Amino acid sequence: MKVSRRGFIATTAAGSASLALDLKGQDKPATTGALPGNPPKKPIIISAHNGYNYLDRGYAVLTSGGDTLDAVMQVITGPEDDPNDDSVGLGGLPNEDCVVQLDACCMHGPTRMAGAVAAVEEIKNVSLLSKAVMEHTGHVMLVGAGAQKFGFDMGFPRINLLTERSRKVWLLWKETMSNKDWWGPGLASPKYVLPDASHSELYEERIQKMGELAAKLGIEPEFRAAAVQRVLRPPTGTINCSAINEKGEISGATTTSGLAWKISGRAGDSPIIGAGCYVDQDVGAAGATGNGEENIKVCGAHTIVENMRRGMSPQEAGMDALKRIVRNFNGDMAKMQYVDMSYYILRKDGAYAGVCMWSGGPEHPRTFSVHDGTKRNEVAVALFQGKSIGWPPMPERGHLAPEQKK
Ligand code: ASP
Repeated sequence: MKVSRRGFIATTAAGSASLALDLKGQDKPATTGALPGNPPKKPIIISAHNGYNYLDRGYAVLTSGGDTLDAVMQVITGPEDDPNDDSVGLGGLPNEDCVVQLDACCMHGPTRMAGAVAAVEEIKNVSLLSKAVMEHTGHVMLVGAGAQKFGFDMGFPRINLLTERSRKVWLLWKETMSNKDWWGPGLASPKYVLPDASHSELYEERIQKMGELAAKLGIEPEFRAAAVQRVLRPPTGTINCSAINEKGEISGATTTSGLAWKISGRAGDSPIIGAGCYVDQDVGAAGATGNGEENIKVCGAHTIVENMRRGMSPQEAGMDALKRIVRNFNGDMAKMQYVDMSYYILRKDGAYAGVCMWSGGPEHPRTFSVHDGTKRNEVAVALFQGKSIGWPPMPERGHLAPEQKK
């Protein structure tokens, strides 16, 4: 169809009118539940548990009238700067080539802007780098060498992110387990063959040998058991944080070193707007930690915000996203034991929830951190009772713990 300039203007005007109508319609929830309209009476911050120590400084930004994304950055740069948090920033566990590559993204509710970076080397505060992409470019996402160059151009210092401790844990992985990697069909593939459960007695023996090797590699005695566990059960960590003030302005961000021993260049959910983090000023915010590959496929953070828009409570909205992941595995619990996921959810009226796939052990339940004038950790609501097992699956531990046989 040929469209004249006059016709184009008429079409565009009609388009704008219907767009205006649609936007108005979005304020009404599509289902029975009502989306509360009033902002909270006091500011609230919610984060993954590793944000706990930094919540006060984020809260101080909010109580002094600062921007909600600045408050979030005050929280998440804490673990980025901490060499002992090996899931984020400096000291993050490296990829299979022993290189630390970081991912982050952020969303600013009041301006509805977003920024993201992925697979960035030698820059510590990638959360701030994602904010710089948002504020100083017309783009939303930069990756790899380009993101790094942009960071250096913006004045971010070049830093060696690989600590001695993380390098030694990588060596332990390389010598003992690096044949169990991310290559080959993944857990989600129909071609994936679950590990043989019959070798579980070798597991203890393997732990002992790895402990001996850890000693030879010079890993300090008090960290040896933890180092072995990091190799056998590569940790998920990451930090997501969302903040809202009394005006109802809301922002969120996520930063991570991603999964340990990943293939170089792999980007998980954390830098993906709509997966690792999502904010809609009209509804609320959500963010994730856990197996990024699974979260990307359900667009977890976006799904949760849309669920709240349709009237679900934060907890219902998060549980629904977790169930979508389970559905993707047809409810196969033999596979689900390897999948972990936590969501941190904050609605625009200040209602919040932390939900997780697995509850964790009774002595170490999954928690998340909150500050609403009082700083605390709260236990997350779990879909399944028990602990997940780290990925990739190792033959020697490919068996369900009794409490996980559902
Ligand atoms: N979600 C992160 C990723 O997949 C990892 C994590 O949360 O620990 O990169």
